[in-house]
Amino acid sequence: LTGKIQDALRTINGKATITEKNIEDAVEAIKMALLEADVNLRVVRRFVNSTIEEAKGERVLRSVDPGQQFIKIVHDKLVAFLGDAKQDLNLKGPDTQSVILMLGLQGSGKTTSSAKLALRLKKEGRKVLLVACDLIRPAAIEQLSVLGSQIGVPVYKEEGAKDPVKVYKGALETARKNLYDTIIVDTTGRLQIDQEMMTELVRLRDAAKPDELLLVADAMTGQSAVDIAKAFDEQIGLTGVILTKFDSDTRGGAALSLKTITGKPLKFVGVGEKPEDFEPFYPDRVASRILGMGDIVSLVEKAQQVVNQEEAAALQKKMLSEDFTLQDWLDQLRAVKKMGSLQSMLEMLPGMAGQISEEDLNKADMKTQEAIICSMTKKERENYLIIGPSRRARIARGSGTSVAEVARLLKKFEKMRTMMKKMAKLGKNPKAAQAMM
Ligand code: GDP
Ligand code: MG
Repeated sequence: LTGKIQDALRTINGKATITEKNIEDAVEAIKMALLEADVNLRVVRRFVNSTIEEAKGERVLRSVDPGQQFIKIVHDKLVAFLGDAKQDLNLKGPDTQSVILMLGLQGSGKTTSSAKLALRLKKEGRKVLLVACDLIRPAAIEQLSVLGSQIGVPVYKEEGAKDPVKVYKGALETARKNLYDTIIVDTTGRLQIDQEMMTELVRLRDAAKPDELLLVADAMTGQSAVDIAKAFDEQIGLTGVILTKFDSDTRGGAALSLKTITGKPLKFVGVGEKPEDFEPFYPDRVASRILGMGDIVSLVEKAQQVVNQEEAAALQKKMLSEDFTLQDWLDQLRAVKKMGSLQSMLEMLPGMAGQISEEDLNKADMKTQEAIICSMTKKERENYLIIGPSRRARIARGSGTSVAEVARLLKKFEKMRTMMKKMAKLGKNPKAAQAMM
């Protein structure tokens, strides 16, 4: 998907003047790319029409940088089509039981996503009970049990059970007795929509009165994910969608169609097979991904608001280069201070989300870091390896910190450099970089 769109954008980007014909050509290329990516035809038409309308406005044609204006419009339109920012789950307080029903076809990733969601909610401080209500496939209960023990979340199961409603009732009783506040129910899927499955799920829904009915849909199935979502929504009712296998190449298309056609919010995306490979759905990131610019672009955009354009370009280049120094870090710390939220900035970097702890983001900590680097000589900033014990002691005195704090900073810098190097390598290998994102 991304290659074609990038080509189209490249032809238009950087042009000092663009004509209506330029815009039409670029939109046509985007249209073909979206269709090829299996985005629903109706969605493509709506997207294209509204983009052309806005792009042909005076604002773009007369602006100083029409190419960039155009790209921004395409990007913003994509975001609008993809839906609102991060959608939280509607769960009740901890004094009672919230129920989440996981629905979807066989192989879509229900069991895996149940565990991923359980881990996430557990980290948020909820007390989660997983319930094995897929009674058709004998291996399903075992699969959930294994995942449960991996993430340290208990799994409620009944050996030889035939009726998922009965299993659910047993689980609810257990949850009440042991004060679990969140029940995640893994259900049966079929290879196709079939009436028997729907009937069973309707019974389960009526018994459980879930707070969330989440469809688990496979991003790789593209357009058919939309038909599946429609069927589930009509027969059972959905509150949201989890899009799995977003780490595969064919992402984007399904997300765009799903939201536009079903109107159901995309709440999470699965980005790998491990329980940690799970993220909230951020429309602007996905839009950037569809446009093939990656989140680096939004990071730089943000930087541009405060740092000037050249500085931002240099910063981006530096961050991804292999000779990232302490001086660069200092520059970065100062830029970040101007920018405000370090968290949101770092989260835009591929591979960075989740790797930076709360402590790293502490404002006071940033100040200390700045002080320490400022107490270093130019040479030391350029090559941290020369900073031995006596230099550390001097730096600590100069910055009003301790040797331990200096050591900690150097350690952190080393870790950062390793990460940057990894990213730089990925940058040279776009496929790997995408997989990481
Ligand atoms: P279910 O039949 O709906 O319960 O599907 P499973 O949870 O058993 O998942 C089916 C397969 O898809 C398994 O091999 C999972 O490891 C894999 N899978 C699930 N989610 C993801 C994901 O987000 N990314 C990748 N790469 N694989 C996934
Ligand atoms: Mg399963």
